[in-house]
Amino acid sequence: MHTNLCDGADSPEDMVKAAISSGLKHIGFSGHFDPNVPMDITKYKQEIRRLKKKYKDEIDILLGAEVDLLYDVNEASDCEYIIGSTHSLSIDGGTPSVDDTSEKLESLCNEHFGGDYYKLTKAYYELESTVIETLHPDFIGHFDIVTKFNGGNRYWDEDDCRYLNPALETMEYLAKSGIPFEINTAAYYRGMRDEFYPCTTLLKALFGFGGRIVISSDAHNRSVLTGAFDKAVQKAMECGFTHCLLLVSSSGGIKWEELPLDGL
Ligand SMILES: [Zn+2]
Ligand SMILES: [Zn+2]
Repeated sequence: MHTNLCDGADSPEDMVKAAISSGLKHIGFSGHFDPNVPMDITKYKQEIRRLKKKYKDEIDILLGAEVDLLYDVNEASDCEYIIGSTHSLSIDGGTPSVDDTSEKLESLCNEHFGGDYYKLTKAYYELESTVIETLHPDFIGHFDIVTKFNGGNRYWDEDDCRYLNPALETMEYLAKSGIPFEINTAAYYRGMRDEFYPCTTLLKALFGFGGRIVISSDAHNRSVLTGAFDKAVQKAMECGFTHCLLLVSSSGGIKWEELPLDGL
């Protein structure tokens, strides 16, 4: 979940209250640690720790960080979990984003990849393949967010092997290290895509690679805390998965619990 301390709409406390009233037992804050999204990190950590204590009898609150691959991960070293996300490329000392606006994606592609989106997406997945060694995250965020503006294959064909092969290669490499992947429902419930991250093709491949999944709403306001979770459960089962993971507090830290999808 994101809050108004970075690019979300609601205060952390309003997010907590909404989660309690909708019956959630565990929630995770994942403020952006990102060169392109400003956040007062000290204030963020203080506020989530304050809420964690205040509401400890009502809900399990985890202090997490969604760390961009190009950010200094040491800033998040005292957070309870890290989502490893790739939002940008690293080019000529700059960090141009691939998920900000379609215009920015177009100029990035035209200026640095001669208008070839297969080259751009290959560069994206090559960078993403370094996420474990760089960040040591607890799970991978929105694996294929580079497709955010590619609805209807507007810029490239997502079934073309020039796109799929680099994506699959990185996915296999990361999955075989054992790190879970998030099924991120945000673009789906915002009506931007009719797919989750990762898309159906990649989710099926992930199952084949022995990958594990976490279901996440990436909520930026309190009305979508569990946005499209029912559809994500259905989709995961269609792709072969029988379980998903849940991150919870345990004495002195955090641990993964495994939940059967059937019946969620
Ligand atoms: Zn955000
Ligand atoms: Zn993100």
